[in-house]
Amino acid sequence: GASGAAGEISHSRSSGRSVIHCWCGTPDCLESVAGGAAIVARLQEEGYDIGGTTDLVALASAGDARTIALLREAGGLIGEVLSYVVNFLNPDLVTFGGQLSVVQPFVAAIRGAVFQQCLPVVTDA
Ligand SMILES: [Zn+2]
Repeated sequence: GASGAAGEISHSRSSGRSVIHCWCGTPDCLESVAGGAAIVARLQEEGYDIGGTTDLVALASAGDARTIALLREAGGLIGEVLSYVVNFLNPDLVTFGGQLSVVQPFVAAIRGAVFQQCLPVVTDA
């Protein structure tokens, strides 16, 4: 893009509620609602003794129901924002990176939201 920020969707406003402050200043941006740090903050507020995303992945891998529920919720919110991008660009492929990209309930929720909210012609292939 013109200023090198093309593809940056993590600071787009989401329909969720922010639990951490984000430098971008956008109320309820995706990162402050559904990013790894936001999910960790939610679990910490609920009394979980975790320090970061690595602990979050470990809890999910161990099958912690509350962690998985929050990851599914976050994945749905990410998928909601991502569906706008997918509908607009109709990409051949969407890839995920980072520690949470291996957490299947999280990825499945993203995929589910995209398939639910995109035109079938966009997601058929
Ligand atoms: Zn932000």
